[in-house]
Amino acid sequence: MPGYGWIFPVGDGTINIGVGLLSTFKDFTSVNTTLLLDSYAHMVADSWGINPDTPECKATSGKIPMGGSVGPKVGQGYVVVGDAAGSVNPFNGEGIDYAYETSRMAAEVLHEAITLNDPRALGRYQLMLDDEYGQYFKVARLFAKVIGRPALMRELSRVGIQSRTLMEWVLRIMANLLRPDEIGPAEAAYKAASAIVRLAPNA
Ligand SMILES: Cc1cc2nc3c(=O)[nH]c(=O)nc-3n(C[C@H](O)[C@H](O)[C@H](O)COP(=O)(O)OP(=O)(O)OC[C@H]3O[C@@H](n4cnc5c(N)ncnc54)[C@H](O)[C@@H]3O)c2cc1C
Repeated sequence: MPGYGWIFPVGDGTINIGVGLLSTFKDFTSVNTTLLLDSYAHMVADSWGINPDTPECKATSGKIPMGGSVGPKVGQGYVVVGDAAGSVNPFNGEGIDYAYETSRMAAEVLHEAITLNDPRALGRYQLMLDDEYGQYFKVARLFAKVIGRPALMRELSRVGIQSRTLMEWVLRIMANLLRPDEIGPAEAAYKAASAIVRLAPNA
C-alpha cells in the first residue's frame, strides 16, 4: 500500500500517531483508514509503550494537496505559499521546508512589488516556483503513480528494502537531497526519471 505511518512525541507526554495514503492508490477510497490506524497503533504499541485502545482524543483526517497541485498560486494582490499552494513533496509528505522556501520566495516578490510600487512584480513568483520545483514535482508525481500499482509497490519494497545502498540513494531522491555537482547513482537515477517525464507530457 503506498503510504506511511508516523508517530512522534508531542512534548507533553502524549504522542501523535497517524497513517497517510496516496490517492494514486487504486481503490484508495475503499481503504478503511480507521482500521488501518488501529492496526498501525497496535503494531507500534509495544515499542512505544502505548495503549492503542485508550486514545486521548478522536482521530481526525484530512487531505494534503501535493506536488504543486493547487492553483493559481499568484494573482492580483496575492501569493499562496506552503500547504495552501499544495507545496508538499509527493515523495515523502514533507511540507515544512517547502512552506519556508515558498514563503521566502513570496517575501522576495512582495518586497519587489512594494519597493517598485508595481504589483506586476508578483508575477515572477510562479516562474520561481516552476524553476525550483517544476521538474522535481513532475518526477515525484510519476513516482506516486508508479507506487499506486500494488504489484509494483510490492516488488520495489521487496528488492529495495534489502539493499542499504539502494535505500540510501532512494532516500536522497525522495528527500530532494540530490547533489547536482556530484553525480552518483541517485543523481543518475533521478536524471533518467526526469528524462522519462520530459517524454511524457501528461506525467
Ligand atoms: C500529522 C502531520 C505530520 C507531519 N509531519 C511532517 C514532517 O515530519 N515533516 C514535514 O516536513 N512536514 C510534515 N507535515 C506537513 C507540515 O506540517 C506542513 O506541510 C506544514 O506545516 C505547512 O506549513 P504551512 O505554513 O503552509 O501551513 P500550516 O502549518 O497549516 O499553517 C497555516 C496556519 O494558518 C492558520 N490559519 C488557517 N486559516 C486561518 C485564517 N482564516 N486566519 C488566520 N489563520 C489561519 C492555521 O491555524 C495554521 O496555523 C506533517 C503534517 C501533519 C498533519
